[in-house]
Amino acid sequence: MIAIMFSPKLRGKVMSKQIKATKYMLKETQDDFTEMGTLAGNIGAKTRKQILDENEEVLKDIELRSANIEKESIKVKMGAIKDGFSTNTIYCKHCGTLIDEDSKFCKSCGKEQ
Ligand SMILES: [Zn+2]
Repeated sequence: MIAIMFSPKLRGKVMSKQIKATKYMLKETQDDFTEMGTLAGNIGAKTRKQILDENEEVLKDIELRSANIEKESIKVKMGAIKDGFSTNTIYCKHCGTLIDEDSKFCKSCGKEQ
């Protein structure tokens, strides 16, 4: 060990060995992470496929219902544009009729707001 401290040549050799070892360890770690990532990806894909296979009808229903909700939302937005973004009016929670903002009841369906 004393020789290492005094001989620059020997110190260089030891250091390059240490660097090589570190590089090797890093490569191993990288490979491990890559493997883990691939494994996780495969599990994810399998799980997703399984979920789709087992719940296709439910998922279809969810998508269709979401699309219908979106459609209703667009209808309301289009209505708001047509009505010129009047700030003193709101849409009835029950039937969607445009009513005054301070209305307690809807003038169309009569339900409380
Ligand atoms: Zn109403």
